[in-house]
Amino acid sequence: MAIERKILLNPGPATTTDTVKMAQVVPDICPREKEFGRIMKEMGEDLVRIVHGRTEDYAAVLFCGSGTICMDVALNSLLEEGKKALVIQNGSYSERGCEILRSYNLPLIELKQPLDAPPDLKLVEDILKQNPDVGYVYMTHHETGSGLLNPIRETGALAHRYGAFFITDTTSSYAMIPINVYEDNIDFCMSSAQKGIMGMTGLSFVIGRKDLIERSAAFPRRSYYCNLYLQYQYIEKTGQMHFTPPVQTIYAARQALKEYFAEGEAEKWKRHQRVMDAIHKGEEELGLREAVKREYQSGLVSAVLYPEDPAWDFDKVHDYCYERGFTIYPGKIEKAGTFRLCALGAIDEEDIRDFFVVFREALESSGVKLPVH
Ligand SMILES: *Cc1c(COP(=O)(O)O)cnc(C)c1O
Repeated sequence: MAIERKILLNPGPATTTDTVKMAQVVPDICPREKEFGRIMKEMGEDLVRIVHGRTEDYAAVLFCGSGTICMDVALNSLLEEGKKALVIQNGSYSERGCEILRSYNLPLIELKQPLDAPPDLKLVEDILKQNPDVGYVYMTHHETGSGLLNPIRETGALAHRYGAFFITDTTSSYAMIPINVYEDNIDFCMSSAQKGIMGMTGLSFVIGRKDLIERSAAFPRRSYYCNLYLQYQYIEKTGQMHFTPPVQTIYAARQALKEYFAEGEAEKWKRHQRVMDAIHKGEEELGLREAVKREYQSGLVSAVLYPEDPAWDFDKVHDYCYERGFTIYPGKIEKAGTFRLCALGAIDEEDIRDFFVVFREALESSGVKLPVH
């Protein structure tokens, strides 16, 4: 079966290989069968292995949902009675984290920081000093809306120094930027199958310290479907997810993991960087500027400022590119007009070169003057 190849430059779901797409086409199976249980067990171990965790220490707890389900699960399940959450808020995803906490009416210290530079960790430390009742510190590793990379290792170390857990949303960095849960001081991280591992949507996972998950059994249970310990304990006991898993997505994820380990952590990260270098080069040739300084960027998302040209029309340019097989994505930075070019997925530098040929045509055909201002 020939499947048309599309180049997705949005921040996930990403371009997948045909082998991953085809892995979804399997004989019907009841997910309660032992055969399927084995697949899930191996998958959990592989997911922990990606962040260099030992399976004695860390477990991957699988959920059926998009990536936000993991944020919800971690934030609501890991706050002990009488404790507060500290969220470093410097982008649209950490802002979403705060919204989740507010919708559970949980006590929150929201530390707002600039959206285009790493946070001031001195402020984080001051808050931790003044609030010995902080239960966990929460930080987005890679703020996908802007491409800003946050200092998780240092923040995790601070959290631990003051007796708090460290939870980080690694949804858009996991399996791309090398992460080591021990060296990076991570108690809990998370991702979703359609991002770094280059699988399909519908499967998400929290990876966390088993001892802390066990401890959280005594924390207030604020959700039934989205409780970390309940799901963990069910998987430990039966090898199965508590409720119906996304069966075909799991087959695709299994294939994606095979391909991940075959490509290798270092090679894969090199490829993403190669793709981002090609994106930066293409932007420079057109005179485009970015919202976040290179030195603060993740290397996975470039937030491009809208050209100051009356002929610029994002939708027009988007549609021109889309009709030719390339998807670009609107930005997510409050006030600043930006769009995003991302280096996720099964793509390489040639795809970016091809993209810029089409993108240049799109700008020319809409009458934007080049190089842009
Ligand atoms: C994609 C993403 C999520 C999850 O978003 P969904 O739309 O629910 O999949 C969470 N955090 C970050 C940083 C992300 O990039």
